[in-house]
Amino acid sequence: MTFVAAYRFEDARRLIIEQVSAARERPEAEFVPLDLAVDRVLAADVHADRDYPPTDRSVRDGFAIRAADVPGELFIAGEVPAGSGATLELLPGQAIEIMTGAVVPGGADSVVMVEHVTVTGDRVLVERTAQPGDFINSLGSEALKGDTVLRAGVRLGFAQIAMLASVGVVEAPVFRKPVVAIIATGDEIVEPHETPLPHQIRNSNAHSLAAQVRQAGGQPEILPVARDNFEATAALIERGLGASLLLLSGGVSAGKYDLVEQVLARFDAEFFFDRVLIQPGQPLVFGRARSKFFFGLPGNPASTMVCFAVFARAAVELLSGQDSVSLPMLESVLATDFKHRPGLTRFLPARVSEDGATVTPTQWTGSADIAAMARSNAFLVADPEKPEYKAGERIRVLMR
Ligand code: AMP
Ligand code: MG
Repeated sequence: MTFVAAYRFEDARRLIIEQVSAARERPEAEFVPLDLAVDRVLAADVHADRDYPPTDRSVRDGFAIRAADVPGELFIAGEVPAGSGATLELLPGQAIEIMTGAVVPGGADSVVMVEHVTVTGDRVLVERTAQPGDFINSLGSEALKGDTVLRAGVRLGFAQIAMLASVGVVEAPVFRKPVVAIIATGDEIVEPHETPLPHQIRNSNAHSLAAQVRQAGGQPEILPVARDNFEATAALIERGLGASLLLLSGGVSAGKYDLVEQVLARFDAEFFFDRVLIQPGQPLVFGRARSKFFFGLPGNPASTMVCFAVFARAAVELLSGQDSVSLPMLESVLATDFKHRPGLTRFLPARVSEDGATVTPTQWTGSADIAAMARSNAFLVADPEKPEYKAGERIRVLMR
C-alpha cells in the first residue's frame, strides 16, 4: 500500500466536504405526499401563501381588552371563539371573551388570561395592569405573505412538515435520493442467511452501511461481495461506479490481499487521502474515479461504522441535496475515569444516559466487537492530545 496522505479527522472531513460540495450537482426533484416526506430533502424554496398569522390572534383563553382600561371592571360585550369569522368591535370600558386562536376584535390591544380575572354576571374584574400586545400574536409577526419560510436543501423534520402543511403544500418537492453502491470485500465473508464455517464470518458491514446510508438520506444498493482478487474486485467496482457514490469495506489495510486501492488505481482514481489519524479506522481511503467519489472503509465492523459516521455521512448528505452537513457532537460528563494512548482521535463505543448528563465508555475487545457497538448508543470522542480523563470531567460525544 502506498500512502497518499494522512490527515487529522477535522482536516479529512473538511476536505471531503469541500470536494463533494464543489463537484455535486443537485439531484432531480420528485413529489411525495406530506406524510412520506419526513427525512427527505426539500427541492424548492417554499413561500408563505398569506400573512402568518393572517389576523391579530389571541394566544390565550381570556378577555380581549384595552390595556388602558385596566385595572378595572369591564362590561362583557360578547365572545369570539376560535373559528369565528365575526368582526366584533370593542368599545372603551368593554371586554370581549376570547379563546386561544381566535381573531382579536377591533379596538382591543391586549388579552388578559381567564385565570387572572373574576367574572360576575356580565362584568369582568381585572385587578392587574396589562400592556398593549399582551397575549396577542400580531398579524404577520411569524411571516409575511411571500416570505421564504423553508429553503431548498433543508432536511424535512416534523417542524418543517408542519410548515409545509400550514402553507398548503400537500405534495412536497424533494430531491431524488442518490444511489450509494456498497461493496464488501473478503474471501472470508458469507451472507447473513448462510451458516459460516469456522474460518468465515457473516457480512455485517454491507448491512450496517446500508442502514447508515438510509439514515443519511441515500438509497443503498448492496452489490455482491468482492472476493480478494483483482478481477472480481475490478468487476464490482466497475458496477459500483455507476452509482452516485461508492462505498467499499475491507481490503484497504497493509495486508497482502488488501487490493482495493490497487484496483481503484486501475480506474485512474484520484486519491485524496488513504489514512486518517483516528481510531478505529486509520486506513481510510477517499478518492474519485470516473467523476464519482468513493470511500474505501476499513473492514473491521466498528471501523466501518465510525468512518461512515464521521466521513461518508457528510458526502451522502451533500449528494442528497442537503445544503449543510451534520456531525452531532455534544459534550457530556464522564461517569468513570478514562485513559487512551494519545496521538489519535478515538471514537469509542459508549453509552450516554437517557438525560444526556453522563457518558460511560463501553467495555469492548476492539474494533471487531459488534456486540459492544450494539450495546452502545454513542461514540465517546477522545482528544488526541489528552491521554487521561477523570470521572466528572467533560468529554465530547458523537451521537448516533
Ligand atoms: P480487512 O480490512 O479486509 O483486512 O478486514 C478487517 C477485518 O474486518 C477482518 O477481520 C475482516 O474479517 C472483517 N471484515 C471485513 N469485511 C467485513 C464485513 N463485510 N462484515 C464483517 N466483518 C468484515
Ligand atoms: Mg479483507
